[in-house]
Amino acid sequence: MENKMQLYNTLTRKTETFVPHTDGKVSMYTCGPTVYHFAHIGNLRSYIMEDVLEKSLRYLGYDVTRVMNITDVGHLSSDGDTGEDKMLKGAQREHKTVMEIAKYYTDAFFADCAKLNIKTPDQVVPATQCIPDFIAAVEKLLEKGYAYIAGENVYFDTSKLQDYYVFSSQSEKELLVGVRDDVEEDVNKRNKSDFVLWFTKSKFENQELKWESPWGVGYPGWHIECSCIAIGRLGEYLDLHCGGVDNIFPHHTNEIAQSEAYLGHPWCGHWFHVQHLNDKSGKMSKSKGDFLTVSLLQEKGYNPLVYRMFCLQSHYRKPLEFSYEVLDNVNAAYTKLLKRISELKEEGQPDPAVMEEYQGKFQDALCSDLNTSMAITVVYDLLRAETNDSTKLELIRSFDQVLSLGLTDGVPKETSSVDAQLEAYVLQKIQERAQAKKEKDYAKADAIRSELLEKGIALEDTREGVKWKLLG
Ligand SMILES: [Zn+2]
Repeated sequence: MENKMQLYNTLTRKTETFVPHTDGKVSMYTCGPTVYHFAHIGNLRSYIMEDVLEKSLRYLGYDVTRVMNITDVGHLSSDGDTGEDKMLKGAQREHKTVMEIAKYYTDAFFADCAKLNIKTPDQVVPATQCIPDFIAAVEKLLEKGYAYIAGENVYFDTSKLQDYYVFSSQSEKELLVGVRDDVEEDVNKRNKSDFVLWFTKSKFENQELKWESPWGVGYPGWHIECSCIAIGRLGEYLDLHCGGVDNIFPHHTNEIAQSEAYLGHPWCGHWFHVQHLNDKSGKMSKSKGDFLTVSLLQEKGYNPLVYRMFCLQSHYRKPLEFSYEVLDNVNAAYTKLLKRISELKEEGQPDPAVMEEYQGKFQDALCSDLNTSMAITVVYDLLRAETNDSTKLELIRSFDQVLSLGLTDGVPKETSSVDAQLEAYVLQKIQERAQAKKEKDYAKADAIRSELLEKGIALEDTREGVKWKLLG
């Protein structure tokens, strides 16, 4: 088929025609979440843009197979080989086992994705289900001389490669120095950039999840998981690998190193990276400031699809600054757009010439390095076009297969201004119920819940406290 998608490739640092290994088919791999906490909306920006990319390729007629891992073991918080274990940290914080934490936050992640109309990849693979594959890959890397054992851990030897810093640029090298400065040196490493493939000697004595291996009881390094899952599920040649820009180094750099050492040939042709979401003070993270989640946006009255629209209106390679003022503007524009579309009537027959013209414009926008804001502009242009409503509706339905903004679902109920009186009333009742529970007056607590239910208000006890919503 005709290759017309122009897409920036981090590997070549150029926008180039996307050419898959097998004509018409695309194998696509996405680094999934480390499931130790809720995803913040900055993480979700990457998943939204990857979702649009996958749907764009399908829209262009490609047969896409997409795989995503779930990191439920072995991800250390420095993203190197030191730092704290994120999963263990989560489990300790919430007094749960690592597997309980993994299950809870995996479900929470997919619930957020569903609210944002992000399609679940064809295969979702938890790392803990692939331990034998990781062990086999590490054995092969040892056999081929790309790995060594030191201090009871297995390390990848980066000096064995012609070009380890495949993505390198001046700024990344500076970043590397910065990252390494505050990290304690691992004396077992032969080279500064070497990384762990398998841990048996970890500073985390209380590591919960451990497996037998030829090198003793231990657990895999983070990077090996993505290489093994991608190669195992999608074969030796990967067309497209996605992630956030903070995955470029060290994670994706290490994935390439070990995958190509393992396979003995180039592995993935195209690397797609989504830029950060920032707030006014810089990159958004879980550890600072307001921890922005989809649930929090909903509590503040925003439809999650307004956040999707906010992301789509900006280019994925530009840092995006989040603020409620901008989100409010997007909310107003989104509501207005949905209202205009809801006023279209199924009248007349779709006009094939107009259909072709606008489908062409829409595809051109997607093929211009995934220019989603231009794709949205095509929707506005179409609404102003001289053609009948049926043509418009048919086209908007087809565009929404990619945009997934619920464009033909009708106008959502006004969500941004929840009735203040109602809110005060419910909060008062929630307080009364909490007091009743404290006094072990469960009959009264139940009565308050029923009283609210009769008024169409449902309460939900969550780990962040009591939440409420209007039913129906
Ligand atoms: Zn990964």
